[in-house]
Amino acid sequence: MTTNSPVPKIAAPEEWVSAEGMLRHAQHILAISHVNPDGDAIGSLLGFTLAMRAIGKTVTPCLQDAPSSRFGYISGFHDIKRTAQGEVDLLVSLDASDLQRLGSVFEPGMHGRKPMVVFDHHITNTLFGSVNVIEPGKASTAEIVYKLVRRMDIRLSPEIAVALLTGLVTDTLAFRTSNVTPDTLACATDLMSAGASLTEITRQALVLQPFERIKFHAAGVATAKVEAGVIYAVLSRKLRKEQGYEERGDAGLVGTLITAEEASVAAVFSETDDGKVEISLRSMPGFDVSQVALELGGGGHPAAAGCTVAGPMRTAVHHVLPMLKRIVAKT
Ligand code: 5GP
Ligand code: MN
Repeated sequence: MTTNSPVPKIAAPEEWVSAEGMLRHAQHILAISHVNPDGDAIGSLLGFTLAMRAIGKTVTPCLQDAPSSRFGYISGFHDIKRTAQGEVDLLVSLDASDLQRLGSVFEPGMHGRKPMVVFDHHITNTLFGSVNVIEPGKASTAEIVYKLVRRMDIRLSPEIAVALLTGLVTDTLAFRTSNVTPDTLACATDLMSAGASLTEITRQALVLQPFERIKFHAAGVATAKVEAGVIYAVLSRKLRKEQGYEERGDAGLVGTLITAEEASVAAVFSETDDGKVEISLRSMPGFDVSQVALELGGGGHPAAAGCTVAGPMRTAVHHVLPMLKRIVAKT
C-alpha cells in the first residue's frame, strides 16, 4: 500500500494491534532495513530479530549493504544476510521511509504479494506496508521496537537491550538531538537496567573511528563554505582518492558543519563511484530540511535528512543550494 496521507504523530492503536497479530501468526519473517545502514538501522533490525527469535519465530535479518564492523558487538550481527533466501510468510521493514530504501533485498517478483509490517519514525514515511506503525515523535526506530517488546511481553534480554540502545544512542548522537524527550531517556534507562552499557555502546558506536576517517573528515572541513546561513562541503571522488579513503558516506562531516554558529542549515555533497551525488542535510531547531529531501526523492527528519541526485557535482550543488538558502530565508 502506498499513500501520501498525513502521518500521525503516534501510530493508531489499531496499527499496533494489527502488527502484533501478524507477528504472532508469522513463522518465517524476513526483517529488512535501509541501504547504507546506520546504527539505528542495524540496532532496530537486530533488536527486532532477537526479540522475535525469543518467541520462537524464524527470522532472517537482511541488509543490501554491508554493515560497518564497528557494530560487530551486537548479537546476531554475523547472521545478517545480504540477499533474501528461502520462503518467508511476512516481511518487516525497520527504519526505512520508502520501499526504495530497502534496496535490492526487496524483490518485487518474490515479495510483492507478501504482507509487510513497517516500523519507522520518519515523518516522510510513504506508508508502503500492509500495516504501518509510524511514530515520528520517536527519536529512533529502536524505541518503537522497544515498545513492541514491552507490548508483546517479550523478555528484554541484555542482548536485545544492547541492540536497541545502539539505535537510540546513534540516532540521537548520544541524546543531543532536538527530538530527545523524557520518553527517550526513560527508554534508555530501562535498556541500561536490562544490561546494556551506555559507556561501551557510545564508545563503540559513536566515538571510536579509524585515523583515516579523521583525516578525511578534516579534508572535507577544508572544502566548506558558508553562504546565506547555509554551510556546505563538497566531497569529490578526487578528494576521496587523494585521501585514500574508500568508505561510503561523509565521515560524520555534516554533524560537524551544523555546529557552525553562522549557519542554520548544513549540507554535504558526496560524489559516488557511479557519478551520482549523495546529499546529507542537517538543520538547527526551527529549520526543516526533510521537505527539500523529499522533493529531491529522498526523505528523513526535520533536523536530519538526505537524498541522492544525478551528477555532475557542479549541477547538483547549483540546483540544491538555492533550495537550502530558501529554507533559511523563509524561516
Ligand atoms: P544521513 O545524512 O545520516 O545519511 O541521513 C539522515 C537522515 O536522512 C536519516 O534519517 C536517513 O534515513 C535519511 N536519508 C538519508 N538519505 C536518504 C535517502 O536517499 N532517502 C530517504 N528516504 N531518506 C534518506
Ligand atoms: Mn532512525
